[in-house]
Amino acid sequence: MRLTKAERELVRLKFGGRCTYCGVELGQRWHADHFEPVRRDWGEYAKEKPAEAPENHRIENMMPACIPCNLSKHSMSLEGWRRWIAGHINSLNNHHPIYRLAKSYGLIQETGAKVVFHFEKVAQQ
Ligand SMILES: [Zn+2]
Repeated sequence: MRLTKAERELVRLKFGGRCTYCGVELGQRWHADHFEPVRRDWGEYAKEKPAEAPENHRIENMMPACIPCNLSKHSMSLEGWRRWIAGHINSLNNHHPIYRLAKSYGLIQETGAKVVFHFEKVAQQ
């Protein structure tokens, strides 16, 4: 099922034209993300629930997302994705010498910040 142009515009405006997750202003190209994934083929989430959830393909479950967020989230649950993003620091430290070098010269400072999504910040206001 494809969204109509009007439905897509409703989805786009859910967070004032910003990405649900990182909050970047959406340009011309953005994705309508399934908040609860339709396909679940990632790790622990797949064990909890069936692999397919076509009932999640409804407009209330569609969120405006920038392309990098949508591709990164893929079919992960929100909490699984949050852990995945948080783990990027370890990944950078373990596998990317230029990251470690830039860090050792003080060009990069790790903040230990929690991964908080844009929609969560908006809800707190
Ligand atoms: Zn984003």
